Amino acid sequence: MKYIDKNEEDVVLAKRLRDGEAFPFSCHDGLSCFTECCRNLNLFLYPYDVLRLKNRLEISSERFLQDYVDMVMREGNYFPDLLLRMADDDRTCPFLNKSGCIVYEDRPDTCRTFPLEQGIMFNGPKGKSTDIYFFKPPDFCLGQHEARQWTTESWSEDQGAVTYHKMTARWSEVKAMFQSDPWGLEGPSGPKGKMSLMATYNMDSFHDFVFQSTFLKRYKVKREILKRISADEEALLRFGFEWLKFFLWGMKSQYLKLRR
Ligand code: SF4
Ligand code: SF4
Repeated sequence: MKYIDKNEEDVVLAKRLRDGEAFPFSCHDGLSCFTECCRNLNLFLYPYDVLRLKNRLEISSERFLQDYVDMVMREGNYFPDLLLRMADDDRTCPFLNKSGCIVYEDRPDTCRTFPLEQGIMFNGPKGKSTDIYFFKPPDFCLGQHEARQWTTESWSEDQGAVTYHKMTARWSEVKAMFQSDPWGLEGPSGPKGKMSLMATYNMDSFHDFVFQSTFLKRYKVKREILKRISADEEALLRFGFEWLKFFLWGMKSQYLKLRR
């Protein structure tokens, strides 16, 4: 996911796909580049990716984060980025085997979107965001020379990426707010930072936090929202984003308010 400032639009226009613009692509195991794109890569994981993958592997969020994730704090940001931990030797994806991707139905957003890259353009520091897409496969990717044509919409639908893109766009709005420091003296590894990581990347612990701590004594949450988030982790994740905006930046929420 790229963050594009409105002022940068002219710089990246050449690579941007316009609405309805077609691009050629087809990927299949008959191509000599098959699985090349799963090696020697940096793969960023977004909150919905982690949710889908930990369920696919039937392990807890905590275990997934311990065993499969590296965290990096990039300059100019106050929330870590999560990267899938690659195999040590040639930085191959841990989910690649001889026949291909073993988590294919739950592969991350970036894998579904490839050979496109999703960008989020903001019209101001807290303005509304717009999804934009770039077509820029690496030279080794032979799928770009195939005849089949797609648009960004038809490609997203074909790849089962529609929900992923919506969840990534929601997350990107929250993530962009971390370009200023919300932590104060306690820093990103303090209690607020840990809770923020939990509310976005650790749905098992966040579920316990909402339903088994004093959370509901402190926050009033609409009954229908509570019912939904108790049984649906995707809804719980959306609630996590909403809670963070309220908790860290005091933004008004339709989901919850403080009890008096
Ligand atoms: S065509 Fe591109 S996406 Fe498909 S396997 Fe080859 S490198 Fe990967
Ligand atoms: S998750 Fe699957 S598609 Fe994505 S890089 Fe790994 S093996 Fe390839």
